Amino acid sequence: MAERRIPVAAPALVGREREYVLDCIDSTWISSSGKYLTRFESEFAEFCGVRHAISCCNGTVAVHLALLAQGVGPGDEVIVPTLTYVATANPVVYCGAQPVFVDAESRTWNMDPERVAEAITPRTRGIVVVHLYGHPVDMDPILQLAEAHGLWVIEDAAEAHGATYRGRITGSMGSLATFSFYGNKVITTGEGGMVVCDDDELAAAVRQLHGQGQAPDRRYWFPMVGFNYRMTNIEAAIGLAQLERIDWHLSRRREIVGWYREELAGEEGIELSPEEPWAQSAFWMVCAVLDEQRFGRRDDVMAGLDEAGIETRPFFYPLHTLPMYSAANEAKVFPVAEDLARRGVNLPSSATLTRDEVAYVCERVRGLAR
Ligand SMILES: *Cc1c(COP(=O)(O)O)cnc(C)c1O
Repeated sequence: MAERRIPVAAPALVGREREYVLDCIDSTWISSSGKYLTRFESEFAEFCGVRHAISCCNGTVAVHLALLAQGVGPGDEVIVPTLTYVATANPVVYCGAQPVFVDAESRTWNMDPERVAEAITPRTRGIVVVHLYGHPVDMDPILQLAEAHGLWVIEDAAEAHGATYRGRITGSMGSLATFSFYGNKVITTGEGGMVVCDDDELAAAVRQLHGQGQAPDRRYWFPMVGFNYRMTNIEAAIGLAQLERIDWHLSRRREIVGWYREELAGEEGIELSPEEPWAQSAFWMVCAVLDEQRFGRRDDVMAGLDEAGIETRPFFYPLHTLPMYSAANEAKVFPVAEDLARRGVNLPSSATLTRDEVAYVCERVRGLAR
């Protein structure tokens, strides 16, 4: 076993996180109100170029709140990609509705717009797109399709803070968008999430639902069954400090992917994180899709890297293969997502990685080729 361990994704607390957290403690503002919440929300809204941002306790409930604000309920269908984290689809089920899965396309690995068209039925209410691993979705075809069918589009931007699509920033293109600030995301609050939108009514609905359903103008009056999905001031303090340095986080990630490209240049059988000419990825995770002729089984490569002290993780299992979703999807085929999921691995991706560490990882990867 090697002595050095390189984690797959560690947070980088390089700004005023400590100072702001200590201020929460010194001032006793540690619960779900306080100046850091107000500032984090307004500065995050500004960052996304939208009018409203509502903080919440994680990215999963952010998706739930967005779906509830759009009125999703029993009998509805919501289109989601099959190649994503499980938290994109589960909130559809929390609403009593059914996720309808769509295959990936092979260039960006995001949901294939052509397959979306085929998945629309009279029960379809909307589409949740996911900017997978930080790469923005090709939004225009999906937005056009949605408009033609009277559907809404929610962006699950949990992995793509600050990514842009044809100059438009993620979070500004759907009717609502959701973010996660889990410890391994582009920026973190420990656990945390955000719902952003431009529409006043949708924003008001999200805010009410996330605060137990309390009426905005009458304290302790609850006209609906709401949720306690609030973020704490301490989490927001960390989030604000992270957001103040987001340009650093994004440029570090871009630089690190560049190092991987240089170190693995000319190495056959590895497809690294894509970036289309019309996109600026947030490069949440460094991705490598391995050719099986050259590298053999992905899991064996991961085991080899683990022995060298390098932590990796497999691509997401396509959601239609998970036990709770497989029965409803038995007759369907999702060849692109299944192929990517079988061969894809996430390499160390922390913003704090050094050039030497990246060189070491790449040397070990090369050494595992046949
Ligand atoms: C991380 C993630 C979420 C959920 O966020 P949590 O904060 O972990 O609840 C949702 N969707 C996607 C695509 C994610 O990557």
